[in-house]
Amino acid sequence: MLLVEFYSHSTFSINKFYINLENYLRIVIKIKEIKKININVIGMTYTKEPNFTPKDPKEFDFKEIIYEKKDWKATVTINRPEVYNAYSTLTLMEMIEAFHDAAWDNKVAVIILTGAGDKAFCTGGDVKEYRERFTIKPAEYWKWMSIFQEVHDVFRNIGKPTIARINGIVAGGGNEWQMECDLAIAAEHATIQQVGTRVGSVACGGATQWLPIIVGDRRAREILYLCEPISAKKAMEWGLVNEVVPYAEIDAAVDKMCQKLIDKFPECMRYTKQQVNFWKDFVWHQTIGHAKDWLSIHYASWEPLEGMSAFVEKRPPNYKGIRESPHPEFLWGPPSVTCPSCQAKCIPSDFEFCGKCGAKLK
Ligand SMILES: [Zn+2]
Repeated sequence: MLLVEFYSHSTFSINKFYINLENYLRIVIKIKEIKKININVIGMTYTKEPNFTPKDPKEFDFKEIIYEKKDWKATVTINRPEVYNAYSTLTLMEMIEAFHDAAWDNKVAVIILTGAGDKAFCTGGDVKEYRERFTIKPAEYWKWMSIFQEVHDVFRNIGKPTIARINGIVAGGGNEWQMECDLAIAAEHATIQQVGTRVGSVACGGATQWLPIIVGDRRAREILYLCEPISAKKAMEWGLVNEVVPYAEIDAAVDKMCQKLIDKFPECMRYTKQQVNFWKDFVWHQTIGHAKDWLSIHYASWEPLEGMSAFVEKRPPNYKGIRESPHPEFLWGPPSVTCPSCQAKCIPSDFEFCGKCGAKLK
Protein backbone atom coordinates (compact mmCIF):
# COMPACT_ATOMS: atom_id res chain seq x y z
CA MET A 1 0.00 0.00 0.00
CA LEU A 2 1.11 3.51 -0.77
CA LEU A 3 0.41 6.55 1.34
CA VAL A 4 -0.24 9.40 -1.09
CA GLU A 5 -0.87 13.10 -0.64
CA PHE A 6 -3.25 14.98 -2.92
CA TYR A 7 -2.89 18.71 -3.27
CA SER A 8 -5.65 20.58 -5.01
CA HIS A 9 -4.63 23.89 -6.59
CA SER A 10 -8.20 25.06 -6.80
CA THR A 11 -9.22 24.47 -3.16
CA PHE A 12 -5.69 24.63 -1.61
CA SER A 13 -6.52 21.50 0.33
CA ILE A 14 -4.31 18.53 1.13
CA ASN A 15 -5.68 15.02 1.54
CA LYS A 16 -3.85 11.86 2.48
CA PHE A 17 -4.91 8.35 1.43
CA TYR A 18 -3.70 4.79 1.52
CA ILE A 19 -3.99 3.32 -1.92
CA ASN A 20 -2.73 0.23 -3.72
CA LEU A 21 -0.31 0.52 -6.60
CA GLU A 22 -2.82 -0.36 -9.30
CA ASN A 23 -5.26 2.37 -8.30
CA TYR A 24 -2.42 4.82 -7.86
CA LEU A 25 -1.32 4.35 -11.47
CA ARG A 26 -4.93 4.70 -12.65
CA ILE A 27 -5.31 8.00 -10.77
CA VAL A 28 -2.00 9.39 -12.01
CA ILE A 29 -3.22 8.91 -15.58
CA LYS A 30 -6.50 10.68 -14.79
CA ILE A 31 -4.68 13.53 -13.04
CA LYS A 32 -2.57 14.14 -16.10
CA GLU A 33 -5.84 15.03 -17.80
CA ILE A 34 -7.08 17.32 -14.99
CA LYS A 35 -3.73 18.94 -14.15
CA LYS A 36 -5.08 20.82 -11.19
CA ILE A 37 -4.10 18.29 -8.55
CA ASN A 38 -0.66 17.28 -7.42
CA ILE A 39 -0.21 13.72 -6.19
CA ASN A 40 2.87 12.57 -4.34
CA VAL A 41 3.74 9.26 -2.77
CA ILE A 42 4.87 10.04 0.78
CA GLY A 43 5.03 6.58 2.29
CA MET A 44 4.62 2.89 1.82
CA THR A 45 3.12 0.25 4.12
CA TYR A 46 2.83 -3.52 4.18
CA THR A 47 2.22 -4.59 0.63
CA LYS A 48 -0.71 -6.95 1.29
CA GLU A 49 -4.07 -5.69 2.49
CA PRO A 50 -4.78 -7.31 5.86
CA ASN A 51 -7.60 -9.78 5.68
CA PHE A 52 -9.42 -10.04 8.99
CA THR A 53 -12.31 -11.99 7.54
CA PRO A 54 -12.51 -15.65 8.49
CA LYS A 55 -12.42 -17.91 5.47
CA ASP A 56 -14.32 -20.91 4.29
CA PRO A 57 -11.99 -23.87 5.06
CA LYS A 58 -12.21 -24.82 1.37
CA GLU A 59 -10.33 -21.63 0.49
CA PHE A 60 -7.19 -22.96 2.15
CA ASP A 61 -5.04 -25.25 0.12
CA PHE A 62 -3.78 -27.37 3.00
CA LYS A 63 -1.70 -30.43 2.17
CA GLU A 64 -0.96 -31.94 5.57
CA ILE A 65 -3.86 -30.90 7.78
CA ILE A 66 -7.63 -31.08 7.43
CA TYR A 67 -9.39 -27.94 8.60
CA GLU A 68 -13.14 -28.00 9.21
CA LYS A 69 -15.61 -25.59 10.77
CA LYS A 70 -19.15 -26.54 11.73
CA ASP A 71 -21.66 -25.87 14.51
CA TRP A 72 -19.37 -23.54 16.54
CA LYS A 73 -16.51 -26.02 16.33
CA ALA A 74 -13.28 -25.88 14.35
CA THR A 75 -11.34 -29.10 13.93
CA VAL A 76 -7.70 -29.28 12.94
CA THR A 77 -6.63 -32.81 11.97
CA ILE A 78 -2.98 -33.62 11.39
CA ASN A 79 -3.31 -35.67 8.23
CA ARG A 80 -0.12 -37.71 7.85
CA PRO A 81 -1.28 -41.18 8.95
CA GLU A 82 1.52 -42.82 6.93
CA VAL A 83 4.01 -41.42 9.50
CA TYR A 84 1.71 -41.73 12.55
CA ASN A 85 0.76 -38.07 12.17
CA ALA A 86 4.26 -36.75 12.84
CA TYR A 87 4.40 -33.08 11.89
CA SER A 88 6.70 -31.70 9.23
CA THR A 89 7.64 -28.04 8.85
CA LEU A 90 4.79 -27.63 6.36
CA THR A 91 2.31 -29.16 8.83
CA LEU A 92 3.27 -26.54 11.43
CA MET A 93 2.97 -23.70 8.91
CA GLU A 94 -0.48 -24.87 7.87
CA MET A 95 -1.51 -25.16 11.53
CA ILE A 96 -0.50 -21.51 12.09
CA GLU A 97 -2.85 -20.43 9.28
CA ALA A 98 -5.74 -22.55 10.48
CA PHE A 99 -5.33 -21.38 14.11
CA HIS A 100 -5.27 -17.72 13.03
CA ASP A 101 -8.49 -18.29 11.10
CA ALA A 102 -10.18 -20.09 14.00
CA ALA A 103 -9.14 -17.29 16.35
CA TRP A 104 -10.68 -14.63 14.08
CA ASP A 105 -13.91 -16.49 13.36
CA ASN A 106 -16.67 -15.53 15.80
CA LYS A 107 -18.58 -18.60 14.65
CA VAL A 108 -15.89 -20.75 16.22
CA ALA A 109 -16.30 -21.31 19.97
CA VAL A 110 -14.10 -24.38 20.48
CA ILE A 111 -11.11 -25.79 18.63
CA ILE A 112 -10.51 -29.56 18.46
CA LEU A 113 -7.06 -30.89 17.69
CA THR A 114 -6.70 -34.48 16.50
CA GLY A 115 -4.90 -36.84 14.13
CA ALA A 116 -6.14 -38.76 11.09
CA GLY A 117 -7.14 -42.41 11.49
CA ASP A 118 -7.25 -44.49 14.68
CA LYS A 119 -3.54 -45.33 15.08
CA ALA A 120 -2.00 -42.05 16.21
CA PHE A 121 -2.90 -38.62 17.53
CA CYS A 122 0.53 -37.19 16.80
CA THR A 123 4.03 -38.62 17.20
CA GLY A 124 5.95 -35.35 17.27
CA GLY A 125 8.43 -33.96 14.79
CA ASP A 126 9.27 -35.83 11.62
CA VAL A 127 12.48 -37.66 12.64
CA LYS A 128 13.34 -38.32 8.98
CA GLU A 129 13.20 -34.58 8.29
CA TYR A 130 15.31 -33.94 11.42
CA ARG A 131 17.91 -36.56 10.40
CA GLU A 132 18.12 -35.35 6.80
CA ARG A 133 18.19 -31.65 7.52
CA PHE A 134 19.30 -30.77 11.02
CA THR A 135 22.08 -33.28 11.71
CA ILE A 136 23.62 -31.93 8.47
CA LYS A 137 22.84 -28.24 9.09
CA PRO A 138 22.31 -27.85 12.84
CA ALA A 139 21.95 -24.06 12.63
CA GLU A 140 18.84 -24.57 10.50
CA TYR A 141 17.19 -26.06 13.58
CA TRP A 142 17.29 -22.64 15.24
CA LYS A 143 15.25 -21.22 12.33
CA TRP A 144 12.88 -24.20 12.43
CA MET A 145 12.34 -23.60 16.14
CA SER A 146 11.06 -20.11 15.32
CA ILE A 147 8.20 -21.70 13.40
CA PHE A 148 7.65 -24.24 16.18
CA GLN A 149 7.58 -21.49 18.79
CA GLU A 150 5.18 -19.40 16.71
CA VAL A 151 2.64 -22.17 16.11
CA HIS A 152 2.57 -22.99 19.83
CA ASP A 153 2.21 -19.33 20.75
CA VAL A 154 -0.67 -18.87 18.32
CA PHE A 155 -2.42 -21.98 19.64
CA ARG A 156 -1.97 -21.17 23.33
CA ASN A 157 -3.27 -17.66 22.65
CA ILE A 158 -6.16 -18.62 20.39
CA GLY A 159 -8.60 -17.05 22.87
CA LYS A 160 -10.99 -20.01 22.91
CA PRO A 161 -11.01 -23.38 24.67
CA THR A 162 -9.21 -26.22 22.89
CA ILE A 163 -9.76 -29.97 23.20
CA ALA A 164 -7.32 -32.75 22.30
CA ARG A 165 -9.22 -35.63 20.69
CA ILE A 166 -6.68 -38.37 21.41
CA ASN A 167 -7.43 -41.05 18.84
CA GLY A 168 -4.28 -43.18 19.31
CA ILE A 169 -0.56 -42.98 20.05
CA VAL A 170 0.74 -39.74 21.49
CA ALA A 171 4.53 -39.47 21.40
CA GLY A 172 7.16 -36.79 21.85
CA GLY A 173 6.03 -33.47 20.42
CA GLY A 174 2.55 -34.97 20.09
CA ASN A 175 2.27 -34.94 23.87
CA GLU A 176 3.28 -31.28 23.81
CA TRP A 177 0.33 -30.62 21.51
CA GLN A 178 -2.14 -32.55 23.63
CA MET A 179 -0.90 -30.84 26.82
CA GLU A 180 -1.21 -27.44 25.22
CA CYS A 181 -4.91 -28.11 24.68
CA ASP A 182 -7.06 -26.98 27.59
CA LEU A 183 -8.83 -30.34 27.86
CA ALA A 184 -8.19 -33.85 26.55
CA ILE A 185 -10.35 -36.88 25.81
CA ALA A 186 -8.54 -40.12 25.00
CA ALA A 187 -9.67 -43.33 23.36
CA GLU A 188 -9.04 -46.45 25.47
CA HIS A 189 -6.32 -47.77 23.15
CA ALA A 190 -4.33 -44.51 23.24
CA THR A 191 -0.90 -44.35 24.88
CA ILE A 192 1.19 -41.32 25.80
CA GLN A 193 4.96 -41.21 25.92
CA GLN A 194 7.98 -38.98 25.58
CA VAL A 195 11.00 -40.13 23.55
CA GLY A 196 13.69 -37.43 23.92
CA THR A 197 16.40 -39.18 25.95
CA ARG A 198 15.85 -42.32 23.86
CA VAL A 199 16.29 -40.70 20.42
CA GLY A 200 19.03 -38.18 21.19
CA SER A 201 16.95 -35.09 21.84
CA VAL A 202 15.43 -33.25 24.79
CA ALA A 203 11.67 -32.77 25.03
CA CYS A 204 12.00 -29.08 25.86
CA GLY A 205 9.40 -27.81 23.39
CA GLY A 206 6.67 -28.02 26.02
CA ALA A 207 7.10 -31.41 27.70
CA THR A 208 9.83 -30.63 30.26
CA GLN A 209 7.90 -27.41 30.93
CA TRP A 210 4.28 -28.55 31.19
CA LEU A 211 4.45 -32.14 32.45
CA PRO A 212 5.45 -31.10 36.01
CA ILE A 213 2.49 -28.68 36.07
CA ILE A 214 0.00 -31.25 34.80
CA VAL A 215 1.09 -34.54 36.44
CA GLY A 216 3.50 -33.39 39.18
CA ASP A 217 7.28 -33.57 39.46
CA ARG A 218 7.86 -37.31 40.12
CA ARG A 219 5.54 -38.51 37.39
CA ALA A 220 6.95 -35.95 34.96
CA ARG A 221 10.47 -37.27 35.60
CA GLU A 222 9.32 -40.86 35.14
CA ILE A 223 7.72 -40.00 31.78
CA LEU A 224 10.67 -37.89 30.58
CA TYR A 225 13.55 -40.09 31.78
CA LEU A 226 12.18 -43.57 31.05
CA CYS A 227 10.33 -42.80 27.81
CA GLU A 228 7.81 -45.60 28.45
CA PRO A 229 4.25 -45.47 27.13
CA ILE A 230 1.58 -44.49 29.66
CA SER A 231 -1.76 -46.20 29.13
CA ALA A 232 -4.91 -44.11 28.70
CA LYS A 233 -6.13 -45.40 32.08
CA LYS A 234 -2.94 -44.31 33.83
CA ALA A 235 -2.98 -40.98 31.97
CA MET A 236 -6.46 -40.44 33.37
CA GLU A 237 -5.37 -41.36 36.93
CA TRP A 238 -2.40 -39.01 36.63
CA GLY A 239 -4.53 -36.13 35.36
CA LEU A 240 -2.85 -36.09 31.95
CA VAL A 241 -6.26 -36.39 30.25
CA ASN A 242 -9.79 -35.53 31.40
CA GLU A 243 -11.71 -38.51 30.10
CA VAL A 244 -11.14 -41.96 28.60
CA VAL A 245 -13.79 -43.54 26.38
CA PRO A 246 -13.99 -46.46 23.93
CA TYR A 247 -12.78 -45.33 20.49
CA ALA A 248 -16.29 -45.70 19.04
CA GLU A 249 -17.56 -43.12 21.53
CA ILE A 250 -14.81 -40.51 21.26
CA ASP A 251 -16.65 -38.18 18.87
CA ALA A 252 -19.78 -38.22 21.03
CA ALA A 253 -17.69 -37.48 24.14
CA VAL A 254 -15.82 -34.62 22.43
CA ASP A 255 -19.10 -33.23 21.13
CA LYS A 256 -20.67 -33.36 24.57
CA MET A 257 -17.77 -31.43 26.04
CA CYS A 258 -17.93 -28.91 23.17
CA GLN A 259 -21.61 -28.26 23.83
CA LYS A 260 -20.86 -27.47 27.47
CA LEU A 261 -18.17 -25.01 26.38
CA ILE A 262 -20.33 -23.42 23.69
CA ASP A 263 -23.02 -22.73 26.32
CA LYS A 264 -20.80 -20.29 28.19
CA PHE A 265 -19.98 -16.59 27.78
CA PRO A 266 -17.14 -16.17 25.23
CA GLU A 267 -15.39 -13.22 26.86
CA CYS A 268 -15.42 -14.84 30.32
CA MET A 269 -14.12 -18.04 28.75
CA ARG A 270 -11.32 -16.21 26.96
CA TYR A 271 -10.14 -14.46 30.08
CA THR A 272 -10.46 -17.58 32.23
CA LYS A 273 -8.14 -19.30 29.77
CA GLN A 274 -5.76 -16.35 29.80
CA GLN A 275 -5.56 -16.53 33.61
CA VAL A 276 -5.17 -20.31 33.77
CA ASN A 277 -2.46 -20.09 31.11
CA PHE A 278 -0.23 -18.27 33.58
CA TRP A 279 2.04 -21.14 34.69
CA LYS A 280 2.24 -22.63 31.22
CA ASP A 281 3.14 -19.24 29.74
CA PHE A 282 5.57 -18.51 32.55
CA VAL A 283 7.65 -21.66 32.23
CA TRP A 284 7.46 -21.54 28.42
CA HIS A 285 8.78 -18.01 28.12
CA GLN A 286 11.49 -18.63 30.73
CA THR A 287 12.89 -21.64 28.87
CA ILE A 288 11.97 -21.80 25.19
CA GLY A 289 14.64 -19.41 23.89
CA HIS A 290 17.26 -21.38 25.78
CA ALA A 291 15.85 -24.66 24.45
CA LYS A 292 15.95 -23.28 20.90
CA ASP A 293 19.62 -22.39 21.17
CA TRP A 294 20.69 -25.51 23.04
CA LEU A 295 18.91 -27.89 20.66
CA SER A 296 20.36 -26.23 17.57
CA ILE A 297 23.89 -26.61 18.96
CA HIS A 298 23.17 -30.13 20.25
CA TYR A 299 22.24 -31.22 16.72
CA ALA A 300 25.91 -30.88 15.76
CA SER A 301 26.89 -33.67 18.18
CA TRP A 302 26.96 -37.44 18.11
CA GLU A 303 23.95 -38.27 20.31
CA PRO A 304 21.23 -36.99 17.94
CA LEU A 305 23.13 -38.33 14.94
CA GLU A 306 23.20 -41.83 16.47
CA GLY A 307 19.65 -41.64 17.86
CA MET A 308 18.04 -40.44 14.66
CA SER A 309 20.12 -42.66 12.39
CA ALA A 310 19.01 -45.64 14.51
CA PHE A 311 15.38 -44.54 14.16
CA VAL A 312 15.62 -44.13 10.39
CA GLU A 313 17.55 -47.42 10.03
CA LYS A 314 15.04 -49.19 12.35
CA ARG A 315 17.69 -50.49 14.79
CA PRO A 316 18.28 -49.89 18.53
CA PRO A 317 20.53 -46.89 19.31
CA ASN A 318 24.05 -47.72 20.44
CA TYR A 319 23.91 -46.08 23.88
CA LYS A 320 26.81 -48.13 25.25
CA GLY A 321 29.00 -47.15 22.30
CA ILE A 322 28.63 -43.51 23.28
CA ARG A 323 28.99 -44.18 27.02
CA GLU A 324 32.15 -46.25 26.52
CA SER A 325 33.72 -43.95 23.93
CA PRO A 326 36.75 -41.96 25.15
CA HIS A 327 35.23 -39.00 23.24
CA PRO A 328 31.38 -39.23 23.46
CA GLU A 329 30.94 -35.89 21.68
CA PHE A 330 32.74 -36.95 18.47
CA LEU A 331 32.00 -39.99 16.32
CA TRP A 332 35.58 -40.24 14.95
CA GLY A 333 37.33 -38.44 17.79
CA PRO A 334 38.11 -34.77 18.39
CA PRO A 335 39.55 -32.79 15.44
CA SER A 336 43.02 -32.71 16.97
CA VAL A 337 45.47 -34.26 14.47
CA THR A 338 47.68 -32.48 11.90
CA CYS A 339 48.84 -34.45 8.86
CA PRO A 340 52.66 -34.74 8.91
CA SER A 341 52.71 -34.87 5.12
CA CYS A 342 50.36 -32.09 3.85
CA GLN A 343 49.92 -30.21 7.17
CA ALA A 344 46.08 -30.44 6.97
CA LYS A 345 44.78 -29.51 10.42
CA CYS A 346 41.86 -30.68 12.59
CA ILE A 347 41.74 -34.29 11.35
CA PRO A 348 39.64 -36.55 13.65
CA SER A 349 41.92 -38.40 16.08
CA ASP A 350 40.64 -41.90 15.20
CA PHE A 351 41.52 -41.56 11.47
CA GLU A 352 44.35 -43.74 10.22
CA PHE A 353 44.90 -41.84 7.01
CA CYS A 354 44.81 -38.17 6.06
CA GLY A 355 41.53 -37.46 4.25
CA LYS A 356 43.21 -34.79 2.15
CA CYS A 357 46.49 -36.30 0.87
CA GLY A 358 46.00 -39.94 1.90
CA ALA A 359 49.22 -40.15 3.99
CA LYS A 360 49.28 -42.64 6.86
CA LEU A 361 48.78 -40.88 10.19
CA LYS A 362 49.56 -43.66 12.64
ZN1 LIG B 1 47.69 -35.01 4.45
